[in-house]
Amino acid sequence: MIYDHILIRYGEISTKGKNRKGFIDKLKSNIKRALQEFKSIRVEADRDRMYVLLNGEDHKAVASKLTGIFGIQNFSPAMKTERDIEAVKESALAYVSDLSGISTFKINTRRSDKNYPYNTDEVNHILGGHILQNIEGISVNVKNPDLTLRVEIRKEAVYLSGEIIPGAGGLPVGNSGKAVLMLSGGIDSPVAGYLSMKRGLDLECVHFHSPPFTSERSKQKVLDLCRKLAAVSGRITLHIVPFTDIQKLIQKQIPENYTMTSTRRLMLRVADRIRENQKALAIVTGESLGQVASQTLESMFAINEATNTPVLRPLITMDKIDIMKIATEIDTLEISNRPYEDCCTVFTPANPKTKPKREKVNFYESFVDFNELVEQAVNGVETVTIYPEQKIEEGDGLDLF
Ligand code: ATP
Ligand code: MG
Repeated sequence: MIYDHILIRYGEISTKGKNRKGFIDKLKSNIKRALQEFKSIRVEADRDRMYVLLNGEDHKAVASKLTGIFGIQNFSPAMKTERDIEAVKESALAYVSDLSGISTFKINTRRSDKNYPYNTDEVNHILGGHILQNIEGISVNVKNPDLTLRVEIRKEAVYLSGEIIPGAGGLPVGNSGKAVLMLSGGIDSPVAGYLSMKRGLDLECVHFHSPPFTSERSKQKVLDLCRKLAAVSGRITLHIVPFTDIQKLIQKQIPENYTMTSTRRLMLRVADRIRENQKALAIVTGESLGQVASQTLESMFAINEATNTPVLRPLITMDKIDIMKIATEIDTLEISNRPYEDCCTVFTPANPKTKPKREKVNFYESFVDFNELVEQAVNGVETVTIYPEQKIEEGDGLDLF
């Protein structure tokens, strides 16, 4: 096929001037980054559309990258032709001749330039007639054609395209500001991360690690999960928090049935400090209402007291089975299912309170000074940047813990 470009239609986009420009600029740079392996392509943007000029690159390979980029409603491999009707006729004929297995077609013309000398019906007729005259055995079928040839008449040129490929929707990553994602090795938090990137958030991940109670392999899990998330955003910064001392102090000082509540509160405090340092404005978690003891409404009420920063919970109303479906789609399920212990699982009491009270947890915590340990945890954070293709194997010198 003689496609010379891919025409991209924007997703949800505010019509307001400044927002639109921010959206378009962000989408353009995200597309350029995702397509950087294709050395010849160029990306051009205008108010309503974006164009990936292929310059000989394979449109299928480029299209498969585009389907994963947030902020794209849909896109079409297309041909650009001059506005002169004779040129449009020849291009339309070449377009249809080049496709195999087409026995019925229709032409669907749209004009954004109302000054074009022919109206849409006239263009449909002229092009349809030309194709019928020149290709044997082909006929028009308006209801259910093999091919709908879309003809877009714009001020600068005419565009021909045949298929509309759905995009990922959402908003361009980075368009909605920055948040920190509390990333465990479980199934839920990577999905929460993916969905918040879909709404345009730029994420940095925070992971709590408690050596020697948690193993090297649990670290590897989180690095692998970050690599999957980095495939969406281009790269991910991961902050690894040494959490052992805080957990030990909790075990020692807090009554057993409240250790989980206190652990969560301290995680939130530390995550909030990192958020502040990284100039982010929200914390994202993988919580889902009622899923486990720490995710009852009473628990969330007691835990959330640790901060007044917005805590975003994209999965809050979702069933586990639907979360797992997304985890499969984004290829994190198999990583999350690896059996290695997470710092919470190691210290989980046999009977955590499912309805903790704020007054009680405040009372228990009032006997302990966590401030210094919180400072130490924040100061001891190790930060690593992860890229999609980067293979981080154990023992390759990346000694993070
Ligand atoms: P997940 O599948 O994301 O681990 P979960 O259903 O196991 O979630 P919890 O273990 O109660 O639920 O964790 C709730 C949320 O707390 C997680 O989704 C994550 O955002 C955060 N969290 C839990 N453990 C950690 C950790 N070790 N490091 C960072 N965040 C964590
Ligand atoms: Mg978990």
